[in-house]
Amino acid sequence: EQGLTETDALVVGAGPVGLFQVFQLGLQEIRAHVVDSLPYAGGQCVELYGDKPIYDIPGISVATGRELTERLLQQVEPFSPTLHFNQVVSEVERQADGRFRVATSQGTQFLTKTLFIAAGVGAFQPRMLKVDGIEKFASQVAYRVEDPAQFAGRDVLVLGDEDPALQAACDLAATARVTLLHRRDGFRADPSRVAAMRELVAQGRMQFKVGQVTGLREAGGRLAAVEVAAPDATVSALPTDVVLVMLGISPKLGPIADWGLDLERKQLKVDTEQFSTSVPGIFAVGDINTYPGKKKLILCGFHEATLAAFGAAAIVFPGKEIHLQYTTTSTKLHRLLGVS
Ligand code: FAD
Repeated sequence: EQGLTETDALVVGAGPVGLFQVFQLGLQEIRAHVVDSLPYAGGQCVELYGDKPIYDIPGISVATGRELTERLLQQVEPFSPTLHFNQVVSEVERQADGRFRVATSQGTQFLTKTLFIAAGVGAFQPRMLKVDGIEKFASQVAYRVEDPAQFAGRDVLVLGDEDPALQAACDLAATARVTLLHRRDGFRADPSRVAAMRELVAQGRMQFKVGQVTGLREAGGRLAAVEVAAPDATVSALPTDVVLVMLGISPKLGPIADWGLDLERKQLKVDTEQFSTSVPGIFAVGDINTYPGKKKLILCGFHEATLAAFGAAAIVFPGKEIHLQYTTTSTKLHRLLGVS
């Protein structure tokens, strides 16, 4: 994804608060683009507790993290936001005309009048495999399975002990020569998934090894084998075409700290009238911000997003009087929501 997109609003983070920010901006007639490092929306709700129930969303007595995300995505549909996944917002630079030039890790560029940082605890990114020389073989290292066909017929080394790693190892075993490697013979994955993996190993359809990657062996400019140290310190070479690294996902605050915004213990300082950061035009909502009395709760983030959208309307439509309107009775809002 490349190119330059001009927009009135850009939201960093498609967690619950970023999604509701899109809704509130829509009510203000402001269309938004959204960027997230994950391949899907939902932030912590999906990444950390997709199947667990939440009980304190007003009017929804119970919903899992994934269900809440689905409802929020449904709610923003009338405003058809453009969602840009799999990329980290890396650069933010104020332009002479007051807009912000924003760039992502995939080279997507935006020129936006307003910026909403709904970055939660930071960009969720896969934990990297740390071993000397790995950068050289980037084309043979994967962090998720986009297309299982790419692994077919190859020697695949899967690293990890959580559900995604065991699931991928078992799935790929149907078409590839799979070895699952973990530093001990114990897993954080669901016991049923561990049992399924052990069954495939017993049938000789995949291998499981206890050990750690300590080195790489090259042949003809390509990664040919991975050196694995067993618990007794003996090292063996495992023929490998692809390393599938599934060591978990961790959040990284990353570049946000470099955008010249006032921070307090890694949180962005905001006012409580508009949830503006120290740079006018840049708002911060949800878990990423801090102010006296801040509580890291989804419903607090929803309130913050509402007031931030009013703040943005004053910037996007200078001189225009902005009235509070009810979704129940406003014909203008009905038109925007497509419910008239
Ligand atoms: P997040 O959900 O963290 O989403 C931020 C998104 O921004 C992420 O997807 C991240 O990948 C993305 N991002 C960050 N930086 C970048 C970047 N530079 N570029 C691209 N993308 C970026 N709250 C409640 O109200 N009720 C509950 O019952 C509840 N239960 C919880 C249970 C658990 C186990 C946990 C961990 C939290 C719980 N919370 C609960 C807290 C709630 O999940 C958070 O308050 C909420 O997720 C914050 O939403 P957010 O949109 O601000 O951030």
